[in-house]
Amino acid sequence: MTRFVFITGGVASSLGKGLASAALGALLQARGFRVRMRKLDPYLNIDPGTMSPYQHGEVYVTDDGAETDLDLGHYERYTGVACRRSDSVTTGRIYSTVLQRERRGDYLGATVQVIPHVTDMIKEYIQADLDDEDFVLCEIGGTVGDIESLPFLEAIRQLRHELGPERTLFVHLTLVPFIPSAGELKTKPTQHSVKELLNVGIQPNILLCRCDREIPADSRRKIALFCNIREECVIPALDVDTVYATPLTYHAAGFDVQVYRHFGIEVVGEPDLRRWQDIVDRVREPEGEVTIAVVGKYTELKDAYKSLIEALNHGGIANDVRVNFDWVEAEVFEQQNAVERLDGVHGILVPGGFGERGSLGKIQAARFAREHHVPYFGICFGMQMAVVEAARNLLGIEGASSTEFGPCEVPVVGLLTEWVRGNEVERRDASSELGGTMRLGAYEAQLKPGSKVAEIYGTTTISERHRHRFEVNIHHRAELEGAGLVFSGMSPDGILPEIVEYPDHPWFIGVQFHPELRSKPLDPHPLFVSFIAAAVKQSRLV
Ligand code: GLN
Repeated sequence: MTRFVFITGGVASSLGKGLASAALGALLQARGFRVRMRKLDPYLNIDPGTMSPYQHGEVYVTDDGAETDLDLGHYERYTGVACRRSDSVTTGRIYSTVLQRERRGDYLGATVQVIPHVTDMIKEYIQADLDDEDFVLCEIGGTVGDIESLPFLEAIRQLRHELGPERTLFVHLTLVPFIPSAGELKTKPTQHSVKELLNVGIQPNILLCRCDREIPADSRRKIALFCNIREECVIPALDVDTVYATPLTYHAAGFDVQVYRHFGIEVVGEPDLRRWQDIVDRVREPEGEVTIAVVGKYTELKDAYKSLIEALNHGGIANDVRVNFDWVEAEVFEQQNAVERLDGVHGILVPGGFGERGSLGKIQAARFAREHHVPYFGICFGMQMAVVEAARNLLGIEGASSTEFGPCEVPVVGLLTEWVRGNEVERRDASSELGGTMRLGAYEAQLKPGSKVAEIYGTTTISERHRHRFEVNIHHRAELEGAGLVFSGMSPDGILPEIVEYPDHPWFIGVQFHPELRSKPLDPHPLFVSFIAAAVKQSRLV
């Protein structure tokens, strides 16, 4: 029997609903339950793929090639369950499906309305493509009271009515702020937020109360009384020093126990959370530290690099070191001498990116790393810029560039026009639509036996997630390899360069895919583990 846990948020956004959902997923798994995590987003974009990272943070890509909300990254990192396209749904997608059906004549004769047609479609998505999991955790994006989230709330209210409390549970995350001038914690915003939910017919069963300090028993009692909730179900969600402590702190606060109790599930003894405890211990007491310069374009907004930051931290945890981030705004850095800015860092990472702005700074960063033997990790755009750098400075091709920046003399990086997915060839040209038309999702690559990457992965066949429109031009392979930059990973048909490396450099690897999307605290990605190990070595030299 699949049970549905719906997680809503109130009072303010950015309270960590995604993390709370993911932590609950991990706790349920620790008892052996099978979980599935889903996100319903109220905005009208079909997916976040076309949104600026400033608007929406990172775009998380699934194996099956869906461009999704970054919360799906949390879900995968905590539960290890690979999300699918069906696990991320937006209002835009719901409406476009409803409208397609309307045109097809499916609703012939009916006036198509939000209720029942849109809400029915939401319910259909929530229950679609499941594998008889024990729990589906379904997070509703936005905050209650938003106009856009109303159809979602109505749909989950109806599901509760249809499936009954034995199969549905409402968790609501709120904020309990401390007002310094009054010297008090305030419960009123939580009460109002629950009222908003009650207005649409939803009585939450469990409240998670974000707070920067302990919530005294009398405040909890007050919240329970005014919100119609059992006192044990008012769960304090206090700030934590590391996000990986959340499964432990939520368990200590009784969150999972109340979930079992609601569903009448008997559990004995304690869940095995030793692996999480071990991670937290390592984060809290590292044996050393390294500094990694991340040369990017959205360095002001850390959400744009969510998975990347986590993956570097996972590499740190595996090597027992703390990773300090030195954020370098690529464009600013173009004015400054690379030696001054990057001198002393233990590793340089150039992450994925789009467009010409800042590209020169990234090329400079790759050059600095190559010439000064500093570990360099180029991801997607970071690989492409490393190749442009090699063409310009090792081969002396001044006009080498990427056609992403407009027509150029020697396109060492060019538009990807054709590739194979399964048994089908996918084609694009310069006039293709921008939404969802990149090379997206998991593709295999073959690694060169004896290369550094083959050694790091411990195999010569890998599968990694992609999100790009341009590719390194295979026609320059021989020249570049002659200059020392080896193409050590290729698509199985041998056409698309997937990895480049300098064998005579301590650690210089560029990858066309996004390994950060596959890294998990309990299963860190080998490239990140190896990169941080190289940075540790470098730290002993400088
Ligand atoms: N802009 C480059 C491309 O489309 C790189 C994309 C990326 O870094 N994700 O190929």
